[in-house]
Amino acid sequence: QIKKVNENYFGSYSSFGIHREMLSDKVRMDAYGQAILKNPSLLNGAVVMDVGCGTGILSLFAAKAGASRVIAVEASAKMAAVASQVAKDNGLWLSKSKRGVVEVVHGMVEEIDKTVELQPHSVDVLLSEWMGYCLLYESMLGSVLYARDQWLKPGGAILPDTATIHVAGFGKGATSLPFWENVYDFDMSCIGKELVIDAARIPIVDVVDSQDLVTSSAILQSFDLATMKPNDVDFTSTASLELKSSASENKETCLNSRTCCWCYGVVLWFETGFTSRFCGETSAVLSTSPYTPRTHWSQTILTFREPIAMGYGKEKWCKPEAIGTEVVPAAKIDLRVSIVRSTEHRSIDISLEVTGV
Ligand code: SAH
Repeated sequence: QIKKVNENYFGSYSSFGIHREMLSDKVRMDAYGQAILKNPSLLNGAVVMDVGCGTGILSLFAAKAGASRVIAVEASAKMAAVASQVAKDNGLWLSKSKRGVVEVVHGMVEEIDKTVELQPHSVDVLLSEWMGYCLLYESMLGSVLYARDQWLKPGGAILPDTATIHVAGFGKGATSLPFWENVYDFDMSCIGKELVIDAARIPIVDVVDSQDLVTSSAILQSFDLATMKPNDVDFTSTASLELKSSASENKETCLNSRTCCWCYGVVLWFETGFTSRFCGETSAVLSTSPYTPRTHWSQTILTFREPIAMGYGKEKWCKPEAIGTEVVPAAKIDLRVSIVRSTEHRSIDISLEVTGV
């Protein structure tokens, strides 16, 4: 079963569209480019391993930055062949003339020990772009940690070296409701309401505008890639989200004509850091936040079963749907979120619980 899942997974990386999307993601490319190209004392003369090289772009950066040897590992046969060709076409392929330094190794990084001429714990810099939606979807991080433990020198650099998952509450503007409320002056809000109910069952990957966030944001989980253990990728964390003072853009008039701010759910995003620990000359951050330019990861939207009224006063409001049902608005929302690798390989199970308001 796992073999089959892997075939599907690596098969999906053989289509060039996904690689074009990643290479066109300027936020992503700038962060990696800065970390690799602007830290010459880290890269110059270094032995580098690129876990999951795809087209080979990070390996090419490493070669350009002066690495003495770049081992580019790729599980997809198609992409491994492409990466080799690209390295050759750019004069960076390791050849007899010794001009180039890049060697592509086809295989899963967990299985290359017999294919590659490399001593364990002899890599100076481990590079990888392993992040999936909501950081952990696709579960490639485990492979990077495997490579770290097998190939990286003690004290060697891992790029990126930190990862954090952030959370914030969103208002009506981030739901389907506004669109369906007025379609060429017709009210189709019944569709919007159905979609909001459906959204409570499954996370949605989409772009959220920072103006539609109605609470503060909090860090849900931080990972230190240099020290974390493989099982740390499964976690349960808590967060407390406070009503944001600028939430007014998301105010709605409720059924008894009072102005309310409703929190419809939470949005998750991640950041990875290339910190001064290893990138001493130029550090970098790759952020997929709603507050920064969008990336191909968008954000991950988790919708509550029912929206939560937020406000500082004690005046009661009615719920948008339930005439007559009144609630005291909450100044904060306490959450418990757990993310664990799914028994279905490569996906994740996310659970979200509101533990208090
Ligand atoms: N480094 C490239 C591609 C990133 S996408 C870039 O930044 O553009 C991740 C790549 O890792 C995919 O091509 C996928 O096939 C490969 N991959 C995922 N898990 C792997 C593993 N365990 N061993 C080797 N390659 C892997």
